Amino acid sequence: MKPAKKIWINGEIENLSAAKIFSFHQGLNYGACVYEGIRCYKTKQGPGIFRVREHVNRFFYSASALRMNLGYTKSQLISAIKDIVRVNNLESAYIRPMAFYSDAKMGINIFDSRVTTILFVWPWKEGTPHDSKVSLHITKYRRLNPETIDIKAKVSGYYANGLLGFIDAKESGFDQPLFLDVKGYVAEGAINNIFLIKNKVLYTPTTRNILGGITRDSVIALAKDLEISVVEKDMTPEFIKNADEVFLTGTGIELQKVVKIDNLFTLKKDTPVTDALSKEYYTVAMGNTKKHKSWISLV
Ligand code: PMP
Repeated sequence: MKPAKKIWINGEIENLSAAKIFSFHQGLNYGACVYEGIRCYKTKQGPGIFRVREHVNRFFYSASALRMNLGYTKSQLISAIKDIVRVNNLESAYIRPMAFYSDAKMGINIFDSRVTTILFVWPWKEGTPHDSKVSLHITKYRRLNPETIDIKAKVSGYYANGLLGFIDAKESGFDQPLFLDVKGYVAEGAINNIFLIKNKVLYTPTTRNILGGITRDSVIALAKDLEISVVEKDMTPEFIKNADEVFLTGTGIELQKVVKIDNLFTLKKDTPVTDALSKEYYTVAMGNTKKHKSWISLV
């Protein structure tokens, strides 16, 4: 899918072609880049950005982990995100802010390097019921851990770990990897979090060794609204064995059903808890309820 025609780059709205100037820089060379993925939903009141403050907070946190001086405030970035949706005339969209060290400089010294920020945006069909399902393979690669990286930051370089897991999963005949942490507990997917349901209780790994996603946080809040018990805990792969339902969460996929995890789990005919949560997620994201109104920022 091609991005929309206009991008925001260092405070200016430009044509997409303006992004082509970057060929060699520390962002690419060392993964010295931070990014976000944000959704804009078509609501009855117009395009509404989902949990934009939380995404922008995480973006600033990620940038600070790499000591990037972004040169604008959070509220300026939120305005820019709304502008870029508006100038592209989009009702629903996926927005990808990226900030990276952009000097053509050899070596790892990022101090004093220039930072470039770009907002890319894609038209995105919203409201598609999540029929797409995914199979998971517990990859031989372990998730990066808080002793080796800042786990709360979304730094591009970390995704080498996700990519290796993805290659391993694909080459083993599965769609996506599921990572264990270095202690052997279930962590997360390459770009998503995992939930499982047993006897109507919702289980998800603690945030000790994962990027605690904004969708994960939303699902936990919605589960509480629906009076579904939520337990955050360390889970061994063995714990997956008698799960009734498993799903992944992420900004792009929202809630996505898992069909298979190696020989540990197979999708059952009925997935009542996943379906109820999915429905609630849409209702809130599309602004069709008074609940969690503060999660939506109209463009
Ligand atoms: N884990 C990782 C490693 C991710 O990259 C993402 C995507 N941002 C997620 C989880 C899900 O996060 P969110 O729900 O905020 O999109």
